[in-house]
Amino acid sequence: MEMSDFLVDELISKVSEGSNWEALNRAAKTSRYCSRPIHLAPASHLLDGDIASAALGLKPDNYQGLYSKACGSRRHNLCPSCSKIYKGDARQLIGSGLIGGKGISEEVSNHPQIFATLTAPSFGPVHRSISSAGKPERCHPGPRSYCPHGMTLSCTERHRENDEIVGSPLCPECYDYKGAVIWNAMSTKAWQRTTIYLRRELAKLMGISEAELKKLVRISYVKVIEFQRRGLIHLHIVIRADDPENVELKPSISISTDKLELAFRLAVKRVRVPVEFGEEKRIITWGEQIDTRAIDAGSNGPGSTKAVANYLAKYATKSATESAGFEKRFKDAGQIELAKVSPHLRKMAQTAWELGQDPNYSSLNLAMWAHDLGHRGHFLTKSRRFSVTFKYLREIRSNWQAAEHMEHQEYQDNDGFFGSEVELIFVGQGWLCAADAYWASKLRADHEEARVLAWEQFMEERELEGMW
Ligand SMILES: [Zn+2]
Ligand SMILES: [Zn+2]
Ligand SMILES: [Zn+2]
Repeated sequence: MEMSDFLVDELISKVSEGSNWEALNRAAKTSRYCSRPIHLAPASHLLDGDIASAALGLKPDNYQGLYSKACGSRRHNLCPSCSKIYKGDARQLIGSGLIGGKGISEEVSNHPQIFATLTAPSFGPVHRSISSAGKPERCHPGPRSYCPHGMTLSCTERHRENDEIVGSPLCPECYDYKGAVIWNAMSTKAWQRTTIYLRRELAKLMGISEAELKKLVRISYVKVIEFQRRGLIHLHIVIRADDPENVELKPSISISTDKLELAFRLAVKRVRVPVEFGEEKRIITWGEQIDTRAIDAGSNGPGSTKAVANYLAKYATKSATESAGFEKRFKDAGQIELAKVSPHLRKMAQTAWELGQDPNYSSLNLAMWAHDLGHRGHFLTKSRRFSVTFKYLREIRSNWQAAEHMEHQEYQDNDGFFGSEVELIFVGQGWLCAADAYWASKLRADHEEARVLAWEQFMEERELEGMW
């Protein structure tokens, strides 16, 4: 949304009138231009008038004496600034595991690596957008038949990908909503089994025991969750074989990517996780559709390490920012009613919420995860050795930030920056007024532009020096 110049001028004049200008600018900078920064104060300062009132739940008038840090949200609709930082970190985390960087050797790109996608099974027919050779196909052609609820089980439409109906069941009454939610919730268990079976199948294919394999090969992975239109998750995974002692080395025994692919497919087929909730018994398996391909460090095509890194990073951030369509955790069932989502996704969330109230399903903690349609946990997970961690990337950044502050003496003298030994107490979150929020977003835009300009200048200078 474009703001009129008049409104902008008025807002800026309010910023300078109402707030301590320096404190506001510092808060914007230390929070990395976050939309809803978290404000902290040193416990020892809590006796001071201003901050004491803040700690008691009264808003401070400005950001003087507070340390403001980023909210760290991954979701764009909650904080564009922090979600962008998360996106960058996700890219680096995935990229460094595939092609090296951030302290990981480039050698990893020569290890046997495969890229796989795992799907959920069907819980009833849904409207689909399918095409062959670029032409849209009919959704569910075939003879007209009816379900017990009198709904037709064929659909001759050629749906476009963004049609709202895509992913919704042909008959919502027949659709196994409970099964779908439970599957989302248990998919992490199915993944655990898959990793165990992968080692087992690989050992068999190599003609050695599992114990021997363990001494020769470590399997590392990164996996990213993608929500499909039908509200079930897909898993996109990179699997890499390393030397167990030194992650920078290939396994000493030769493993072809073909063998790794085959072992993975066999493992996936074998997964059957029995679950029991009161009277209800189910078996969790993967869907029929398994896609695997070798990652080729040398190529530039769709199977290249770079292409896969980009593809995974895209999903990692798409899931985290768009998720299943719900912004955040529900506090009550009314919030599910009000959310702007398709009736199908609403029913998924409602089913999860209702199961969350049923003591038989208490182990799944579903009320807590209804906004993610039962899926519990992170969108991006990796085995310990795959690459660097989000924590590591955040630390590099905060060390850099601290070093930058040291250079500017005013930051140290000002009580906006405290040493790490100081106990900090939460006093509030967000900007105090619209003008402050606007100013922070303007600073962010300037900051991003300055970074681009610095890069362009660098490139230009290199060019002049004849280095390119
Ligand atoms: Zn933020
Ligand atoms: Zn259809
Ligand atoms: Zn039906």
